[in-house]
Amino acid sequence: MSEKRDYYEVLGVTRNASEADIKKAYRKLALKYHPDKNPDDKDAEEKFKEAAEAYEVLSDSEKRSRYDQFGHAGMGGAGGFGGGGMNMDDIFSQFGDIFGGAFGGGSFGGSRGGPRVVKGTNLRVKMKLTLQEIAEGVHKKIKVNKLVNAKDVTYKTCSACNGTGRITRVSQTFLGAMQTQTTCNVCRGAGKMIDKKPADADANGLVRQEELIELDIPAGVMDGMQLSVTGKGNAGPFDGIPGDLIVVIEEIPHEDLRRDGDHLHYDAYVNFVDAVLGSSVEIPTVSGKAKIKVEPGTQSGKVLRLKGKGLPVLQGYGTGDLFVHINVWTPKKVSKEEKEILEKLRESPNFEPTPDHNDKGFFQRMKDMFH
Ligand SMILES: [Zn+2]
Repeated sequence: MSEKRDYYEVLGVTRNASEADIKKAYRKLALKYHPDKNPDDKDAEEKFKEAAEAYEVLSDSEKRSRYDQFGHAGMGGAGGFGGGGMNMDDIFSQFGDIFGGAFGGGSFGGSRGGPRVVKGTNLRVKMKLTLQEIAEGVHKKIKVNKLVNAKDVTYKTCSACNGTGRITRVSQTFLGAMQTQTTCNVCRGAGKMIDKKPADADANGLVRQEELIELDIPAGVMDGMQLSVTGKGNAGPFDGIPGDLIVVIEEIPHEDLRRDGDHLHYDAYVNFVDAVLGSSVEIPTVSGKAKIKVEPGTQSGKVLRLKGKGLPVLQGYGTGDLFVHINVWTPKKVSKEEKEILEKLRESPNFEPTPDHNDKGFFQRMKDMFH
């Protein structure tokens, strides 16, 4: 798989480019690489598609902020789902708003002037995942209730646009007669309307139906991340193309482990005697349990770093670490006998705190942890 280029780079704009800048940059590229201008030029076609995809994301504030946060990984497509990318119908349907009605299909070669395919709406579902599922990646089957084209729907030519999908208006301006085209608002550009439909179908000839969808969630996803599965959303009316299925990730918090990006943290409580004499303690990991050694003379606040026991980096290489924070447990109450033993130790020279440079303070340890 070839490396995907950064969307801002594709459009040649800065990361804080305004909506208008983005539109302008895309318009320029779309004109330059338009297939009608570059017949049989595969390279131009790829560039044309790449620019359309970048524009599709950066022109939508929600998608743009997701992209800024997660990069291509947040956009689905590359996230182990569907093919991603856009087809030519998607791209040309984008043109309505980018070039305005007058510039729409008509001016770009006759072939684009006809009715267009109507896209179905996106379907959003929430998916709860445990930390273990996130760590390992998971195959899920989900039941969705989505709109599909009803059987036995028949169509007739749209009477408002005579099947062209467009309404042409002629207006008089000081430059002479100007012809403008807009998408037909009756058939939304499809050029056809419903003739007969079953009683349970809605005005678009769609019915709700349960469907089982299987998908692979890549390892390392984060709470709030949205993955899209191309073409698994609601059906497009009038035999159009389906929308996308948007899967919103919800992380079920782990009982003991705290997540910090790809790293995990665990608070271990160690018996005072074990801290003095050394011991081993069992700690939880995402996939089960592990034993760690507590060296004799371990100070409270010591942090043990277990390399690679965190979470895998989404769409990347490597795995985060698990940080075990040692807390030496101080008994809150003691019996008479315990008290007697401890009283004897109170004046013992080894119990006098004598920290040396190895017993680093809290701030030094934080520095070490995050270098
Ligand atoms: Zn129409």
